[in-house]
Amino acid sequence: MIDTTPVFHPEPEVLLAYSAGSLDEANSVLTATHLALCPRCRREVARLDAIGGILTAQLKPTELAPDALAAVLARLDEAPSPTDDQVAAAVDDETRHWVPEPLRRYLGTSLSALPWKRRGFAIHELPLSLGSGSVRATLIRTGGGAALPEHTHEGVETTLVLRGAFRDEGGRFARGDVATATSADNHRPVAEPDDECLCFSVIDGPLRLTGRFGRLLNPFIRI
Ligand SMILES: [Zn+2]
Repeated sequence: MIDTTPVFHPEPEVLLAYSAGSLDEANSVLTATHLALCPRCRREVARLDAIGGILTAQLKPTELAPDALAAVLARLDEAPSPTDDQVAAAVDDETRHWVPEPLRRYLGTSLSALPWKRRGFAIHELPLSLGSGSVRATLIRTGGGAALPEHTHEGVETTLVLRGAFRDEGGRFARGDVATATSADNHRPVAEPDDECLCFSVIDGPLRLTGRFGRLLNPFIRI
């Protein structure tokens, strides 16, 4: 594998929200995983963090909410996160190679050991317990050359490519690239033929399948 610099990046407002800590968990993990693969966005987030630090230093101290201490103590009682060594011991070389942190930590095991659900010819899907409300996070693994069902959705779908590449109307997306599709886009990603394609996708609203194949699948799948 040749590691290349990503061509498609998160929107500037997403990086700003990431730096401010105001992204939801699923989009935050997706953005952080892109940062692991993208020196350009790491530099930009470092710049935004520095600006945020200056602004925060200029703010007057505010009173803590009455329940702030209880909230912090409750978080300390939560199950401890696995250590780096524990995560490293739990995943195989393939997973370490293709899945950067922090996403690897959320998987907690090897790609081959995950309970993938088959969603059609050469398409496997794994819902991740990262989303809340209408936000859904999913890993999608397709064989080389496979086409995902044509679909559209309400809200925004953000897809980070971890392995292989796919094409849709927006261009060619390879490892590290972030594809952002809105409800106005009706797209049908097709994986490139020479390798399987592994993507991490976050959708912030329900998704509807369109097209003949999609209408057949709609009652059965939720991607
Ligand atoms: Zn980037």
